[in-house]
Amino acid sequence: MSDQTIKRRNFLKKCTGLLGVVGVAAALSSWDIESGERKRYRVDNERCVGCKRCVSVCKHKGISVVKKFAVIDQKRCISCGDCAEACPRKAIV
Ligand code: SF4
Ligand code: SF4
Repeated sequence: MSDQTIKRRNFLKKCTGLLGVVGVAAALSSWDIESGERKRYRVDNERCVGCKRCVSVCKHKGISVVKKFAVIDQKRCISCGDCAEACPRKAIV
């Protein structure tokens, strides 16, 4: 096996390890440690302005805007947190 092949393999191993760490961190962030269940995001209607930015980022069609407020469908939501991150009003908690 050439030196270059070994270096490439070692590099790929490091990348795989890093991806694993990122994946575990992402999974833990959507986990509510106190209740032992996945985090259930909710919308604070005092903050929501119905801009629909959250709707466009959700890959699971888990959020919609009804009567000017975002509503999360808990059956579809996988608690990834993308909508909470995207909300300019910090209305998803
Ligand atoms: S991004 Fe935030 S403010 Fe905009 S509709 Fe969604 S929850 Fe409401
Ligand atoms: S937490 Fe993720 S899956 Fe759930 S509504 Fe927000 S973006 Fe969609």
